[in-house]
Amino acid sequence: MQQGSINVQTENIFPIIKKFLYSDHEIFLRELVSNAVDASQKVKTLKGIGELNADPNKLKVEVILNKAEKTLTIRDNGIGMTEEEVNKYINQIAFSGAEEFVNKYKDAEATNAIIGHFGLGFYSAFMVAAKVEIISRSQKPNSEAVRWECDGSPNYTMEAASKKTKGTDIILHIAEDSEEFLEEERIRGILNKYCKFMPVSIIFGKKSITEDDPSGEKDEEGKVLQITKQVDDIINNPSPAWMKKPVDLTDEDYTNFYRELYPMQMEDPLFHIHLNVDYPFNLTGILFFPRLKQNVELQRNKIHLYSNQVFITDNVENIVPDFLTLLHGVIDSPDIPLNVSRSYLQEDGNVKKISSHITKKVADKLKSMFNENREDFESKWDDIRMFIDYGMLTDEKFFERSLKFALLKNTDGKAYTFDEMKAALSATQQDKNNKTVVLYTTDAEGQHERISKANERGYEVMILDGPLAAHITSKMEQHDSDLQFKRVDADILEKLIERDEELESKLSEEQQNELKPVVEEVANAEKFDVSFASMSVTDQPMVITENEFMRRMKEQQAAGGGGFQMFGAFPEKFNLVVNSNHPLIERVVAETDADKRKDLVKQLTDLARLSHGILKGEELTKFVARSVDLMN
Ligand code: ADP
Repeated sequence: MQQGSINVQTENIFPIIKKFLYSDHEIFLRELVSNAVDASQKVKTLKGIGELNADPNKLKVEVILNKAEKTLTIRDNGIGMTEEEVNKYINQIAFSGAEEFVNKYKDAEATNAIIGHFGLGFYSAFMVAAKVEIISRSQKPNSEAVRWECDGSPNYTMEAASKKTKGTDIILHIAEDSEEFLEEERIRGILNKYCKFMPVSIIFGKKSITEDDPSGEKDEEGKVLQITKQVDDIINNPSPAWMKKPVDLTDEDYTNFYRELYPMQMEDPLFHIHLNVDYPFNLTGILFFPRLKQNVELQRNKIHLYSNQVFITDNVENIVPDFLTLLHGVIDSPDIPLNVSRSYLQEDGNVKKISSHITKKVADKLKSMFNENREDFESKWDDIRMFIDYGMLTDEKFFERSLKFALLKNTDGKAYTFDEMKAALSATQQDKNNKTVVLYTTDAEGQHERISKANERGYEVMILDGPLAAHITSKMEQHDSDLQFKRVDADILEKLIERDEELESKLSEEQQNELKPVVEEVANAEKFDVSFASMSVTDQPMVITENEFMRRMKEQQAAGGGGFQMFGAFPEKFNLVVNSNHPLIERVVAETDADKRKDLVKQLTDLARLSHGILKGEELTKFVARSVDLMN
């Protein structure tokens, strides 16, 4: 028997492994199973070049839980290790440079850094095991089996062993403080998380003891002896869709893969992008576009990051641009430095290249969908709009690319690209300063009255609703200074798109001055700025408007946009514009009975508030009662 001390210059490496990796103990299984998978892959490779005569179809990795003996075994029939190899790979190599490292990170809390430093691999077993055994027999001809054992101190033993089959067993004697890893559901959960798409069959075997199997062995008194049964479950799909060629996959294959990836997701995705890059970095993957709901936050972190089919994380923040985290799917790249800290990732050149590559691919895909079948693209637009808006606002390159396919729809459902919209509106909606005014609504139902009046004039109203609308309008105005966005209730129609001609007012200035205080008194001067305007007789007698600029400021403040606090909260302020050409206003002026006049003004004000959606509560009740009285 060989005894020795693992080549670690410090005695303290094991406590440090435990301490630093505390939050992530479960990854020991990922590390050991991927070692076993690597060992199996090596058999495939050697077989491929004719150096080995094994059957690559029989390769498998078994994870066997034996609760009674408190062991968890990771068994493979892969390449195996000779005694020299155990010496080289386990006793010496794994901790080269450990002392320097331990000194450097003694006080750091950089959990990931320690794993990243030497791909902790095999030694992560000591996060959960009090003792670890390796029993291995190499595929090399005439190899003897070897048994290695270590109890977590830097001392190990190594001796010849008997093992009939080729390959490796890693036997973990689970430590007392880690008994959660003897629970079947816990192990199954970890295997499902990290090993679901590993490239070699992974089998979860549970050895369970039953005492009542009548066909089992009996002792002298005829009592049934405990017998051990093994139940096997296949955990993984060794050839997931993203590893295949797009030409070999049907739409149904993609949908099925989506369901495999997200068994809990109710809705199928809208479409997908299959990524396949081999220069200047390796990356494969499939991104799915889900139907997006308004609540952005709930939909994040659905992209799974893999490295050679080993699950790494579903927290892809800093690896892909923020807006892409709204997508679902898989990215697999051995070129992303997976184990280092996130702040480092942001600066990593490969990660930057990967980010911009994915962004470009997504934009290309959207553009080709738009070009190939615009009708279909338009039908999907409402479900992907938020994703594209978000991308346009946060990624300048994506913004530029998306101008070729991003759509704006008007209230009749007609869809334009920005260029098309500008061309269409410049004929009819150009104001006296040569700006093309884009009228829009944030709520086609609530602003229906103003929209219909604008439509009567031949103006189109675009729909810009949702949480990002205010930002999109600003972004477009910055992009093209000839465009000006105004919500349809930002002003009276005559001023939304200003022309040179002005209508004459039927009310004289004296009449206006006389009426103004009456309206102010009725309409609660604090909330409404009362003014008169010479409007079309076909428009309403009174109209409520909200200044575009002030409203946007208020909305940005409400959304937590910084920089406005110093002004204090923006008050709710509406303009109440009296149409000095409307026959009903003329009637109000002609009314000599002060009470009757007030009633009329009240009724007209309330109608304006009603169509602006701000007549509520007691005021609304009173309005309804008053209207009924009037009809009686
Ligand atoms: P890494 O996998 O990053 O090289 P590990 O500490 O996990 O580091 O493993 C060290 C080496 O031990 C591996 O590179 C491999 O040569 C060998 N090894 C580990 N597990 C096995 C196994 N199940 N079968 C064969 N060789 C193994």
